[in-house]
Amino acid sequence: MLRSRYRAPNSGDGMHEYSLVSSLMDEIDRQAGAHRATSVQKVHVRLGEMAGVDADLFRTAFEMIQPHTICAEAELVLHSEPAGWACPLCGRRHPLGATLRCEACDVPLRPDGGRDLVLERLEMEVSHV
Ligand SMILES: [Zn+2]
Repeated sequence: MLRSRYRAPNSGDGMHEYSLVSSLMDEIDRQAGAHRATSVQKVHVRLGEMAGVDADLFRTAFEMIQPHTICAEAELVLHSEPAGWACPLCGRRHPLGATLRCEACDVPLRPDGGRDLVLERLEMEVSHV
């Protein structure tokens, strides 16, 4: 596969994403090491709508860092997670933009979900012994 997109580290303001990818790589290293993986095939990341992360910049940062890591051949799979609201009493989730009170409990909802960047799953090549 050809990697066609490449941007220099200092073009634009991808520094936030760059440091996020760095810490993601640390986490991947730990998990891959724990499983004695020889390489990582796919990296599944859940990206909250409200996490303040630009998916394109994140992907670019990943592609920039990955050649020097166990993820050199890995494909980044981003799953976006919509933000929502939940009732603090009954836990019922409501979509963003809907009413901000729980009809059942009559209490204000609080923000729920869509704010995190989470390493969801790794697909790894494991050496068989
Ligand atoms: Zn409720």
